[in-house]
Amino acid sequence: MPEVKIPLARHDITEEDIARAVEALKSPFLTRGPMLYEFEKTIARYVGTQHAIAASSGTAALHMSLLALGVGPGDIVITTPLSFIASSNVIMHAGAVPVFVDVEPFTYQIDPAQVEKKIQELRAAGERPKAILAVDLFGYIADWSELRHIAEQYHLVLIEDSCEALGSYFDFVGTRHMAGSFGDVGVFGFFPNKQVVTGEGGMLVTDSDEVNHLARMLKNHGAHPDNRWDEYEVLGYNYHLTETSAALGISQMRRIETIVQRRAEISAMYDQRLLLCKDVVLPIVLPFLRISRFVYVIQLSEYFISADRNNLERYMLEEHGVLTRKYFPCIHLSPFYRRTFGYKPGTFPIAEGFSDRSIALPFFHGITEEQIDYVVDALHKGIRFIRGAS
Ligand SMILES: *Cc1c(COP(=O)(O)O)cnc(C)c1O
Repeated sequence: MPEVKIPLARHDITEEDIARAVEALKSPFLTRGPMLYEFEKTIARYVGTQHAIAASSGTAALHMSLLALGVGPGDIVITTPLSFIASSNVIMHAGAVPVFVDVEPFTYQIDPAQVEKKIQELRAAGERPKAILAVDLFGYIADWSELRHIAEQYHLVLIEDSCEALGSYFDFVGTRHMAGSFGDVGVFGFFPNKQVVTGEGGMLVTDSDEVNHLARMLKNHGAHPDNRWDEYEVLGYNYHLTETSAALGISQMRRIETIVQRRAEISAMYDQRLLLCKDVVLPIVLPFLRISRFVYVIQLSEYFISADRNNLERYMLEEHGVLTRKYFPCIHLSPFYRRTFGYKPGTFPIAEGFSDRSIALPFFHGITEEQIDYVVDALHKGIRFIRGAS
């Protein structure tokens, strides 16, 4: 293994975070205690939803969101192929069937026009899809007004995978609409590369009392929330978040605006240095959207192919110790989905085109300006290298 000089991501834990976690460890509760409820309340208040239900991971929260909305065996859920694989795996966990549609050019979020086309195709074949699971990819926000419109017209439920977008919002004439608040259910994740990190952890947010009730049972082995005497109402799971994790979450939510701002500063430093480079396409900026950036992903220009991108990734690591990553490999082309559904390359040209040429650069709270200069220099050298090779 070549030596990694600059990692792709690194979590930022402060002394204050550590103090809160220690406090949790010294308290009478290691799990299901007061920190959990405070963390839930903090997120609900921040996102502006009635309820927030903590879970052991973003994936667990997504799984519960499907079950709580009544998605079950054989149901069809329309989703995006350009995401972290968990957003589709959870559909399989629920026994449902993920049906992918392509993303929009330019924003790379799920394309509502493709969603509607797919629903019409399915209906013509006698199928009634049950849900749309859309992702706020990279901290952008999917086109939720269109998705809502489609969901109402065809009676589908809406799940918002906002695991990458805690802190993003749309500004509609002075009113903030937070990522996570657009679907019937929204979900956040707190894995170490996210904006707020608890090790493992997730949160489901909703305005629905019924979803809240069901999710609280699902995360606790199926036990009725009001009943401490072992009445197990549904088939439940153990999806609890520990008190130490909740304590980390609470502590970081106190500085969420600083976290989002720092991420914007790092993006701006990359933007400045790469603006004039004709070989790369930078992440876009959208009006009225405050992006809580999850990753800094550039695309190589159309002149390049996926083999060039792979060579660039290898070159930057082997020659300069800079870790980068494909973001994301398309879900439908991963071995499991190919094997299960027979997907082939060329099915979703926009998602695949992006996936083939995209590369995430090192992006984390503590990255220094010198490190960014170093990464950009390695990138320029890498591009010269692949130009020479192709
Ligand atoms: C991080 C992430 C998740 C959840 O991940 P966990 O590691 O289970 O918390 C889900 N969907 C997307 C799009 C993600 O980026």
